[in-house]
Amino acid sequence: MVGTTLPAVAGHCAGDIHVHCNQFGDDGHDSIAEQAVEARKRGLRWIVITAHAQRMRADDWAGLVAGCARATAREGVTVIPGLEVSTRREYARRPATFAYRAPAGAPLTSWVECGGGRYHHAPLGFSFPFYAAPRTSVCISASGFLSFPPAASAIPSPAAPRGLIAPLWYHGEPAADVAVWVDRQVPGELRITWIRDTPRRQAFQARLVHTGDVYFYYQAVGRFGTPTVGVLDDRGEYGASYSGTLADGMGLKFYAGADSHYLALGPRAFLPNPDPERRTGPEIADAVRGCPHSGIGIVAHPFLQAYPWQYWTTGAGDAGATVCGVGGIELVSGGLATRAPRRSLLRWDALLRSDLPRTLGGGGFAVGVAGSDDHDVLNVSTLGNNVTWVQVPSPSPAPAAAAILAALRAGRCFASSDGSMTTFTAEVAGTRYPAGSVAAVAPGQPVALAGTAHSAHGHDIMGVTVIGDGAPLATLASRGGSWSCQTTVNGDGYFRVVLIAHDGAARHSYSNPIFFRT
Ligand SMILES: [Zn+2]
Ligand SMILES: [Zn+2]
Repeated sequence: MVGTTLPAVAGHCAGDIHVHCNQFGDDGHDSIAEQAVEARKRGLRWIVITAHAQRMRADDWAGLVAGCARATAREGVTVIPGLEVSTRREYARRPATFAYRAPAGAPLTSWVECGGGRYHHAPLGFSFPFYAAPRTSVCISASGFLSFPPAASAIPSPAAPRGLIAPLWYHGEPAADVAVWVDRQVPGELRITWIRDTPRRQAFQARLVHTGDVYFYYQAVGRFGTPTVGVLDDRGEYGASYSGTLADGMGLKFYAGADSHYLALGPRAFLPNPDPERRTGPEIADAVRGCPHSGIGIVAHPFLQAYPWQYWTTGAGDAGATVCGVGGIELVSGGLATRAPRRSLLRWDALLRSDLPRTLGGGGFAVGVAGSDDHDVLNVSTLGNNVTWVQVPSPSPAPAAAAILAALRAGRCFASSDGSMTTFTAEVAGTRYPAGSVAAVAPGQPVALAGTAHSAHGHDIMGVTVIGDGAPLATLASRGGSWSCQTTVNGDGYFRVVLIAHDGAARHSYSNPIFFRT
């Protein structure tokens, strides 16, 4: 082993944006003080304790802030208080056993006609949590869906109902000769059956359970057209759908699936995070931005299987508009260092591109960072693997929390998967711009990109790949650590670089972009 330390880089210091502790309900393996000691041993100058807000009591926050201040004073490592905030749990789907039950008694006879549709309001008889909000009545449409309109007397929009549970809904299809039954035989459950004979026989059921689970059963699909099958929230923004082929004898279950996690680094106040939480990712990001703040909000572990970020786009999955407004993204996250975070990078570039007008107007961008998410898993510290380097003016003895947070907000930072880093500047007409900045250039004007790479733990530096607006442009060799290239800019956009280090396997690390306004 050539060395086991992080490099010393003038004007920069290494840290970790995502560390847990075992105090205040958090699920880490060490106390705040022990994490500070561990961080110092591994060459980190600062860490953020991102305790799970959902596990904390409101009065725990003062204790967390005090614990971070004490650890900072004693250990010479800047320990910044933070929170990891959970979103609501989004509906997910899986196959279910077919459990259709033939309807008994008389079908519904009282209907309200509206916009070519027919509706019947029914009390549920129990509290049904839909997206964590309790519902006590439901609007049954003859067209094959259920809806929770905002008021008990309201009629859902026949064209685009929201708060939707749709076992088999054809847009714009007039509800012909359909018979609908409501079954309350099982306490805490409501079962609705639709049966119609034209244009083909269809018989299907929706079963709502007091837990929030929804089941669809298809006795006769009578396949025609392209139905909507799934659930959609009250604002028509997020949902879960089934777009495969329906078959007779099939069952589907929709249930509260995973939540997503968002980090608040350096908030000045506690952010209450009830369980169950009702807010979506963008709403949590807004709450973090809106709280008294010196820091930044970050999407945590965006592609972690158990808790993935589910709010990249609104509307119909990937076809919807990109959701901007997050402060940053954890490009490299605990346990993912060696698995190239390709999907995170694709999402990041998509965000950077769609947010470009705001960025060029001085409104900032989604900053790329790395975190360990050092946790109680295996009870082993992962500090020092995924490292965020920040550019701070005087990093001695302990860098000021405000300076670290300001560098993170501005994107003057580097997301490293192995501790290695490179500086990155762009020179235009004699002015040098750091990562995170916006440079004005004339189309065709020469731009010089340059940096110096520093290896961690004796890893070999292989080179640097320049990315322009998300596309790889060139891979440059690094000579004695230095690399440079000349290029031109022909329109608004950005460059970022990927540092490639090697320790038996390639380790990729990521600069933040430098933006160009033409
Ligand atoms: Zn998490
Ligand atoms: Zn975490």
